[in-house]
Amino acid sequence: MSRTARRIILLGPPGAGKGTQAERLARRLHVPHVSTGELFRQHVGGHTPLGQEAEASMRRGDLVPDAVTLGMVAERLAEPDAVEGAVFDGFPRTTAQAEALDQLLADRGQRLEVAVLLEAPREELVERLTGRRLCGACQATYHVRWSPPAVPGRCDRCGGALMARPDDEEATVVRRLEVYDTETRPLVAYYAASDRLLTVDGLGSVGDVAARLEEVLAPHD
Ligand code: ADP
Ligand code: ADP
Ligand code: ZN
Repeated sequence: MSRTARRIILLGPPGAGKGTQAERLARRLHVPHVSTGELFRQHVGGHTPLGQEAEASMRRGDLVPDAVTLGMVAERLAEPDAVEGAVFDGFPRTTAQAEALDQLLADRGQRLEVAVLLEAPREELVERLTGRRLCGACQATYHVRWSPPAVPGRCDRCGGALMARPDDEEATVVRRLEVYDTETRPLVAYYAASDRLLTVDGLGSVGDVAARLEEVLAPHD
């Protein structure tokens, strides 16, 4: 009998809704949500050596070098909660990272089951990113129009102050979308070639998209 996959990556351009959906999905599957962007932001905020290596690339909207990213992911996967699976969000982003992830999992007798491509038109991505707000304290994500907090500027969960990410400023968004096209989009073919690609339309409400995701991931036998 098959069961719902529990080692999943959410693939897609910045603003497609990967973080929003990955968090819900990980909670539903009882596996950790592994967001490399969030891990990098924690390192930058904590002024760690890794954060210092990552910061300049992030500010420009470029990718952090593969070696830095892969070291951080290997460390995360070595934590005990990642034994049962993980929902990867924003990783892998290059073919080298995808190959390294397959190898890393194979070394542990595990396998990435599926990559889900979340898609949305470019105008929607730009609108979502420029309106995105993050809680500085707990990292909860909001949108000024589509998921505003109850009290403007304050996190519903913890009361923390909300802020825009520095790389969500429009010029950097344009750069990140270019980087997606050149560096990350080739992963669609990479996962399709090994028969691990599913596609979900990212337009519509958060609940609509979550329902589509659940449907494509449902065990089918
Ligand atoms: P990603 O991780 O792919 O960059 P996020 O999940 O952070 O995307 O979403 C980007 C922005 O769009 C956030 O402000 C989020 O609140 C908002 N958002 C996410 N999903 C939807 C949706 N289905 N409809 C409208 N806005 C959304
Ligand atoms: P978004 O959710 O908008 O797509 P993320 O939070 O995933 O953005 O990533 C923010 C930034 O962190 C990226 O623009 C990049 O500089 C860096 N980053 C995140 N994940 C990776 C990765 N897998 N490889 C290289 N750089 C990454
Ligand atoms: Zn908060």
